[in-house]
Amino acid sequence: MKALTAEELLYVWEQGLNQPLLQRVFILLVTAFPEIQSDSLVNLSIGQRDKRLMQLRESLFGQQLLNTAVCPNCGQRMEWESRIADFIDQATENSLTVNKFDLNADGYSLQFRLPNSLDLAAVVNSGNNEIAQQKLLSRCLLKIEHDGKNCEHGQLPASIIQQVVDQIEMLDPHADISIKLNCSECAHNWDVLFDIDSFLWTEINDWAEKMLQTVHKLAAAYGWSENDILKLTPVRRQLYIGMLS
Ligand SMILES: [Zn+2]
Repeated sequence: MKALTAEELLYVWEQGLNQPLLQRVFILLVTAFPEIQSDSLVNLSIGQRDKRLMQLRESLFGQQLLNTAVCPNCGQRMEWESRIADFIDQATENSLTVNKFDLNADGYSLQFRLPNSLDLAAVVNSGNNEIAQQKLLSRCLLKIEHDGKNCEHGQLPASIIQQVVDQIEMLDPHADISIKLNCSECAHNWDVLFDIDSFLWTEINDWAEKMLQTVHKLAAAYGWSENDILKLTPVRRQLYIGMLS
């Protein structure tokens, strides 16, 4: 991973402006991880992708995460705070190239791969979670045999499907980041999903808007070019802005 400059980040933001989130994430990763081939990036599992997005977030904006959630029981809005390090398990990661796993149970012999961004994009408008999960599995199940004979994904018993889902969760631990919250008003406990892709893009969007305002103010006051202003360190930009007010 390389540290993105202000120019590069602004460029990525501009390229992603009118794109769907999936494409925005892809442009971000291509720019920040030049060491990974772009076809490998597309095939990263969701967890492998999100782990890289979290590393990138740390390098851009630091460890600290602040967000809000609404209690599903009483509607109270609350803030939660966490750290990137709490979500990243440095020790475990599957090879980026091996994505074929076996499951043998109750006479069934399955081969599957971990879902990637393209799979998610294909099921995102499925209507409900159950249909989305079925579609996702049908894309990711590479081979299904029962007692040595090929069979269809629709013929699998629920217990086998659950085992595949459990295996995918275990093999791709960064795909589903959930945070345990406790309501200060009604003491209700619940889990909230943390979506690094939309979270990070929102932060980049806020950053870009502020940066453009800064460029505008400094350019208007000192006559510097956009390029010169972007090349300043954040500290110097802030100090010059401070001198204007
Ligand atoms: Zn509550």
